[in-house]
Amino acid sequence: MPKKPSIKQTHDVFLQGACQRLGYDDQIYQALLIASREIRVELPLRRENGNLVVYNGYRVQHHDCRGPFKGGLRYHPSIDMEESRGLACLMTLKTALVDVPLGGAKGGIDCDPSTLSTRELETLTRKFVQKMHRNIGPNLDVPAPDLGTNAQVMAWIQDEYSKVYGHSPGVVTGKPIVTGGSQGREEATGRGLGIVIQRYAEHIREPLKGRTVAVQGFGNVGRHVCEVLTGFGMKVIAVSDVRGGVFSSRGLSYPKICAHSRKAGSVAGFKGADPIDNEDLLELECDYLIPAALGGVIGRFNAARVRAGAIVEGANSPVTHFGDKILKKRGVPILPGILANAGGVIVSYFEWVQNLQRFSWSLDTIRERLQRRLTTASTAVFSLAADQRCTYREAAYQIAAQRLKEAFFAAGF
Ligand code: NAD
Repeated sequence: MPKKPSIKQTHDVFLQGACQRLGYDDQIYQALLIASREIRVELPLRRENGNLVVYNGYRVQHHDCRGPFKGGLRYHPSIDMEESRGLACLMTLKTALVDVPLGGAKGGIDCDPSTLSTRELETLTRKFVQKMHRNIGPNLDVPAPDLGTNAQVMAWIQDEYSKVYGHSPGVVTGKPIVTGGSQGREEATGRGLGIVIQRYAEHIREPLKGRTVAVQGFGNVGRHVCEVLTGFGMKVIAVSDVRGGVFSSRGLSYPKICAHSRKAGSVAGFKGADPIDNEDLLELECDYLIPAALGGVIGRFNAARVRAGAIVEGANSPVTHFGDKILKKRGVPILPGILANAGGVIVSYFEWVQNLQRFSWSLDTIRERLQRRLTTASTAVFSLAADQRCTYREAAYQIAAQRLKEAFFAAGF
């Protein structure tokens, strides 16, 4: 089987396409593509069993002409400079598309957090900050949770950073509420996916009630989107996580699957549903397919077999550019991640603003402002796609690339 393209390769093709549609020459494309700073640090850790393991920490800061760098920290064995580059650029375009005054960054540590104790994770996180603190900060680069990291990891980063610079809640977002986190941040990405799906259903004039959904990944994003869509009366027929998945054509009960996953540590083995593996889930017949785990899971190897009515990118870059091309030819609409999963960064922006103001907003205010921003961005994407008879992804990247280029050239270099 041919090797999967990296997230960066996929993303480069999407950005290049947007630049071509905008009539930008190759020099502009290169200027928008290349990151402004890339950092790698070595993180030696003495494990509790006495072994010494050296991990790598990465941070790629892509563009900050629209605001401080912003993006997740991923704890996963696959994270490296190349993946961080692709994801950092994607973040810049996401913040531009939803028009928040932030740039884009990404990074993480190439560890498997499931094999580390809490104490080891904390030590590793604090070491990362000790080596990185000069390059992050509320006005410089603001990390957030991503795959394998959570509010606790953000609290450790905030604490370690604050030891040097004084109380600095604005250095990270996605923190626990008790240390300056925002209401509604944890649910934000899943809720945002729900808002974009709602706008899309209105756009194509179809109801959501009774529509079927399959979700790959039952972490922060997957869990919350299942909850929101269940609330719309949609039927979640399959969910999965790294250990496997379950399927029921009658629909899965959200509270029951949550309770099972909490108890068993996985959705796999849920009674009253059939087992399904992660690959088969992507090929289920359903109205909405939401890949909400890893990147690159739909590509030339399986795109022809996808039977979903629409794909909604919960994860960052789950569809490769090869997969995108096949799905475009087949007429399968894709709501791209830079729009669909932007709820997280929008509420991260709200959290950062609240931290800078030393003032907190209510959950209702957060939800209402999130709804407004995502509705504006969705409407812009749907109407440009209709005007130019292009895909939603092409429209989204075009809007974002134009905003980035304008800010970059206005600021000068
Ligand atoms: P998470 O760590 O909370 O959950 C990840 C889920 O994916 C888990 O259920 C895990 O078991 C599952 N998973 C891991 N490897 C898998 C595999 N090989 N096959 C199937 N499932 C697998 O992470 P998250 O925060 O939910 O993020 C998920 C995705 O969404 C990532 O791509 C992330 O970049 C993207 N994203 C997250 C946010 C956010 O706010 N958390 C925002 C935007 C995009």
